[in-house]
Amino acid sequence: MQDIYISLGSNQGVPTVNLDRAVLALCDKPGLTLIRKSSQYQTEPQEFKNQPWFTNQVVWMSADKYWTPEDLLSLLKKIETDLGRVPGPRYGPRLIDLDILLFGNLIHREKRLILPHPGLAKRAFILIPLLEISPELALPDGSNVKELLNNLDFTLQEYSIFQT
Ligand code: AMP
Repeated sequence: MQDIYISLGSNQGVPTVNLDRAVLALCDKPGLTLIRKSSQYQTEPQEFKNQPWFTNQVVWMSADKYWTPEDLLSLLKKIETDLGRVPGPRYGPRLIDLDILLFGNLIHREKRLILPHPGLAKRAFILIPLLEISPELALPDGSNVKELLNNLDFTLQEYSIFQT
């Protein structure tokens, strides 16, 4: 078994429904079991400001041994397409975005797949839900989520995250 963490985001259509559908699609897969899912947060867009706010969430699942990170990435891309995502600019509006944050303690550096996810330590919309569901989580380099969050400049109001 491997502990895996997946980040979900959407700012098109009905974002909360898109996230729920993606979580259901993940739970439907043999060998993947949901352990915990975070609340859904409303988050200020980064990079391209002139677009709707995002809804973001993180899920913690356990994957049976036969799941590889590449299999999981292919599954995430398939779910994105099945839910209706069309190609668009990076950081631009999207119906659904699914990223692998962590796959056990694996460190992997290829363009197609970087683990831990390169945005993890910089983005409050990832670290806040991660802290909610897994407060003791340590990354493969030994850093912990709470410390990483302390390094960031952000504001959390209820379930809204402001970070420029
Ligand atoms: P995105 O714009 O977030 O959909 O990601 C664009 C590309 O990033 C994808 O096609 C992936 O091949 C690549 N990528 C690299 N590392 C990761 C990761 N940890 N999780 C998801 N995608 C990744």
